Amino acid sequence: MTSPAAGLSAVRVPKWAFAVSLLGLIVTYLVLQENGLALGASSELLHEFFHDGRHALGVPCH
Ligand SMILES: [Zn+2]
Repeated sequence: MTSPAAGLSAVRVPKWAFAVSLLGLIVTYLVLQENGLALGASSELLHEFFHDGRHALGVPCH
């Protein structure tokens, strides 16, 4: 019987997938940190656009 980890080693993940994942994490981090301080009044649309997602992830905003 083989371990489940041995099956995962057969999966080839392209290098660009790690770059896309990292970019997604960076964008998510920046959006979650945006609370009106970094972008000022122009960030209200951004804040409202991601508001429900922020609450779903447990980010305090108000
Ligand atoms: Zn909120």
